[in-house]
Amino acid sequence: MSDEARYKRVLLKLSGEALMGDKEYGIDPDMVTRVAGEIKTVREMGVQVCLVVGGGNIFRGMTGVARGFDRTSSDHMGMLATVMNALAIQNALENIDVDTRVQSAFPIASVCEPYIRRRAIRHMEKGRVVVFAAGTGNPFFTTDTAAALRAAEMNCDALLKGTQVNGVYTADPKKDPTAKRYQQLGYREVLTKDLKVMDASAIALARENNIPILVFSIHEPGEFARVLKDEGQFTKICQEE
Ligand code: UDP
Repeated sequence: MSDEARYKRVLLKLSGEALMGDKEYGIDPDMVTRVAGEIKTVREMGVQVCLVVGGGNIFRGMTGVARGFDRTSSDHMGMLATVMNALAIQNALENIDVDTRVQSAFPIASVCEPYIRRRAIRHMEKGRVVVFAAGTGNPFFTTDTAAALRAAEMNCDALLKGTQVNGVYTADPKKDPTAKRYQQLGYREVLTKDLKVMDASAIALARENNIPILVFSIHEPGEFARVLKDEGQFTKICQEE
């Protein structure tokens, strides 16, 4: 078993759901602490790490719309939810001595840094973890698209999507016992089969910039590090051969 990571710089996309643990809503401190530990392990392998966090555990724009809020205000609320999650992760990382900076896509000057590309790269070169909050900063987008965008801007070698299951399946494995996990998929296949991995604009952006997407289970201890060594269970989405 090699200890070598295959990637120099990666972006980890965590949905809000991943921070919820077994709870119905909000942030589970134990889950955040565990995720922080996974990130620390990868940092200690010498891999530069940045993160994009979602906000679905607190507020989703479309849920607000269904309750009568205007879409733009609702999406702003959703983006603010991602800032809360980012601060929770920063806290958990700093509790275990991992230097971390939060950068928000829209300025919240007294809370965290604004998003500045060169500064974010410099932080990573110095060994700090950078957590990107507030998605793209624009309504009508998702944090999946923000993840693909930041991965491209940061020149990441891979985008890792930590999900509830260990990869992409032919059907929902929780509902269909015959569902099979894909080892590898082409970007186009994900789009044409409408596989629910990330939204189409995120997949298209990753494809244009040739950034492989590795989908793995965030609930499997040690898996983030294993996937980066090409071990463990995951689905790789990349350019068709
Ligand atoms: N959001 C947005 N623009 C972005 C990213 C997110 O408006 O660039 C809003 C949107 O309302 C979304 C919410 O923030 O529902 C939370 O993000 P997302 O649903 O992507 O979180 P996840 O599903 O990953 O937890």
